[in-house]
Amino acid sequence: MTDQLLLGCDHRPRTADTALRQRAAAVIPGGMYGHQSAGPLPPEYPQFLRAGLGARIWDVDGNEYVDLMCSYGPIVLGHLHPAVEAAAREQAALADCQNGPGAVMVELAEVLVGTVRHADWAMFAKNGTDATTMCCTIARAHTGRPRILVARGAYHGAAPWCTPRPAGVTPQDRANVGFYTYNDLESLRAAVATAGNELAGVLVSPFKHDAGFDQEPVDPKFARGLRALCTRAGAALILDDVRCGFRLHMGSSWEPVGVLPDLSAWSKAIANGHPLAAVLGSGTFRDAAASIFVTGSFWFSSTAMAASIATIRALREQNAVAAMEQAGTALRAAILAQAAARGLQIRYTGPAAMPYLTFVGDRNHELAAVFAGAAVRAGVYLHPRHNWFVSAALTDSDIEKALVGTAAGFAAVSARLASHDESADRSDEQGTSSATTQESGTRT
Ligand SMILES: *Cc1c(COP(=O)(O)O)cnc(C)c1O
Repeated sequence: MTDQLLLGCDHRPRTADTALRQRAAAVIPGGMYGHQSAGPLPPEYPQFLRAGLGARIWDVDGNEYVDLMCSYGPIVLGHLHPAVEAAAREQAALADCQNGPGAVMVELAEVLVGTVRHADWAMFAKNGTDATTMCCTIARAHTGRPRILVARGAYHGAAPWCTPRPAGVTPQDRANVGFYTYNDLESLRAAVATAGNELAGVLVSPFKHDAGFDQEPVDPKFARGLRALCTRAGAALILDDVRCGFRLHMGSSWEPVGVLPDLSAWSKAIANGHPLAAVLGSGTFRDAAASIFVTGSFWFSSTAMAASIATIRALREQNAVAAMEQAGTALRAAILAQAAARGLQIRYTGPAAMPYLTFVGDRNHELAAVFAGAAVRAGVYLHPRHNWFVSAALTDSDIEKALVGTAAGFAAVSARLASHDESADRSDEQGTSSATTQESGTRT
């Protein structure tokens, strides 16, 4: 295939998307908030989506994409998984939001306690931020101490105590948060020592998945050291499994490492796209969990809980974790081969089911934006600055289509690098700095 073909000639103009963006600009602050405004996507990306089925999604103009973002994590079995949707419909036909929860609340708590090794109890909420925040509150209620340690740069949600943007946040909101460096036991020891007898808990993600950086697996020695430090201090080890939970393992994500948390936070994939979060905890923290007051208008809705029970059953029946690992491994091998064939130096990091691609030396994510922009035009929805997600619905033909997209992405990067070289040559002839060639770059 020629590069021209790979650039995706069948892409339809984004008339509907453009019109919606214009209307949104009038009635939604900034036209958009959250992760798609924090680091804007390249201009080739649609903002508004219309439909999803399995591993494919469609934008409001009818363009089809292989979905390698999975709604930033909630979709794990593919969009509109038949068994999950049937369970949700069956529950919804009875009732969703009532004065009290349905029987599904107890059933789901039993399923989670039976699935996740460290868990003796479960509480439910709606968002990952609810769950991480509740974990901190429970740790403080249990210890009677204020301080929580987090890894510098890690994402744990969007409440004032943890949001990555400073606007509207007061120093008091963060007064009881301290920092350590992920995978650095010495820095953790120092932070624990500084917190002294004020330490309530340490929050940690299963691996380092900070947006915009190459991903890093957890060092088992770090995980074990963290466990020992928390036990000695009587503080809670809180695992933020919001992003990884049930994508890497059918239990908490550190079970394969042999380290069990006291509390864990869950959301994203646990109900395959239905709104639900959970806090799971060990017996030691049960009384503290019972003592805090937390609730929400929609926290006892039965539909998402029914969807979650069906999701966990389907994950097990389909052997979904292995399927994602396998599809992700095939994708990784093919993408590495594509890059190597063009002589492009990339880093492809993280678990196979949650990969992230960067270009070596690509400081401002400029090449990543060129890559992602061309890839999305050619039919694969991935991300230039955030880890991707492989769902269990990804078939061989989905992977094939995804690879057409990534090939277009690499072709565009090669073209960009060639044009940089050419204009560098030209400006050298004119005796000017090659730094001016940056201007022609597509900025995100
Ligand atoms: C997404 C995420 C959160 C926050 O979850 P929300 O549902 O967006 O509130 C917390 N921690 C991690 C690791 C996440 O990926």
